[in-house]
Amino acid sequence: MRICEIFSSIQGEGLTMGAPTVFVRAVGCNLRCSWCDTGYSFEGGTEMSVDEILEEVGDCFRVCFTGGEPMLQPDAVELIERLVSKGIQVVLETNGSVDLSAVPKDPLVQISMDWKCPSSGMTDRMLLSNLDVLSGKDQLKFVIEDGADLDFAVDFVRTHDIRSAIIFGPVGGTERLEQLVQRVLDEHLDIRVLPQLHKIIWGDRTGV
Ligand code: SF4
Repeated sequence: MRICEIFSSIQGEGLTMGAPTVFVRAVGCNLRCSWCDTGYSFEGGTEMSVDEILEEVGDCFRVCFTGGEPMLQPDAVELIERLVSKGIQVVLETNGSVDLSAVPKDPLVQISMDWKCPSSGMTDRMLLSNLDVLSGKDQLKFVIEDGADLDFAVDFVRTHDIRSAIIFGPVGGTERLEQLVQRVLDEHLDIRVLPQLHKIIWGDRTGV
């Protein structure tokens, strides 16, 4: 597996925000979102076996398997299965465009899937069948840049059967939160509006 970086921090996004987490970032992404902040993971990195990754991860509560797009790695499912067999929770951060039907349906595996809004330029790459893979332990995230994205996200959640938690967050992680909150309240939607905690703590740095 091609690995960009492995580091220990707290989870900055989603339902496990604030929880101690080891991040395993895979190299490579099949999308090019206009506002992507992890372009440094598109190429390079180090080839590592699943055993080597497990050794580096060590004894921990939780791993966030992210990218890039981690599900492009041929041994992605094996890594997830091996982590879970050690009792480690896995948060799989995936971009919504890659088939998730092979992801282990284990209570310790939380899928954190994006649904790309129009400003990303990637909306037509989303795979609708992935919505059927999500369950109550998972989360569907909309990263919102402007009013058009917000209209799109509200319309999407109103018109699709979504069984996971739903999260709205702003591009950049910390601005325009009040606008998102107001819209969610006005529309009476059961959606969490969340910032990116690591950006509040450390700013726009990598490896945290
Ligand atoms: S899916 Fe994620 S890593 Fe890939 S281009 Fe979009 S934001 Fe960047």
